[in-house]
Amino acid sequence: MPLFQVPQPTRFDLNFSIAGIRVRVHPLFWVIAILLGTGSTNLLYIAIAIFVIFVSILVHELGHALAFRRYGQDSYIILHMMGGLTVPESSAFDSYQAVRLTPNQNIFISAAGPIAGFVLAIAIILLGVGLGGVFIVNLLFGFIPFPSVILPYEFGVLDRVFALFTLINFFWGFINLLPVFPLDGGNIARYTLIQTDPINGLQKSLWLSVIVGALIAILSFVFLKSIYMAFLFGYLAFQSYQALQYRF
Ligand SMILES: [Zn+2]
Repeated sequence: MPLFQVPQPTRFDLNFSIAGIRVRVHPLFWVIAILLGTGSTNLLYIAIAIFVIFVSILVHELGHALAFRRYGQDSYIILHMMGGLTVPESSAFDSYQAVRLTPNQNIFISAAGPIAGFVLAIAIILLGVGLGGVFIVNLLFGFIPFPSVILPYEFGVLDRVFALFTLINFFWGFINLLPVFPLDGGNIARYTLIQTDPINGLQKSLWLSVIVGALIAILSFVFLKSIYMAFLFGYLAFQSYQALQYRF
């Protein structure tokens, strides 16, 4: 999910690599984990929530990175305050990306992040059911307030991990598929609309982004009581509106 700008490296960054893909975790990434993970006073539960959010966002970005690799484009991952970002490595000749991608390749790369998360969630459900976990019953028949990690049932630690993995991956994938720029769904809408309408497609995708972004901001504030989601989508709607003023 490409959001905001690439943050500058700091000495508190966590650096590692997976399958040859460089990963950098900005210290403010842990803010999002704490924002989504608070609601419990149990330190173990908070630690579990932070671990699950970290792994889930990383898997989402790895989906994008592996899709880039499929088209011969190297990329690296940054986890930062608003989530994650997979950035194409630039070549010596091009400051942005080395490989020119078609609209359909861009759509596939954008979809690959949410798909990776959904695959992880389904794998976790199957593993949980295979191990005889009760969490799936509670997920299906109980009401679990999100983003709070307070779960209304007496979960075992493993059931809690499974339930959070399932919820967070579906939640994160769904949020990212909303047609709001620059979320994955916003990119998918843009590359779809510029193919069906080369003249006005970009403008239409930005208006879609303004309307859906504003609607989600209001709904999150009223129903989810989430200041974070309201601020995020309000900001994204405003950014798209500014892009419309600037370009058209
Ligand atoms: Zn994404």
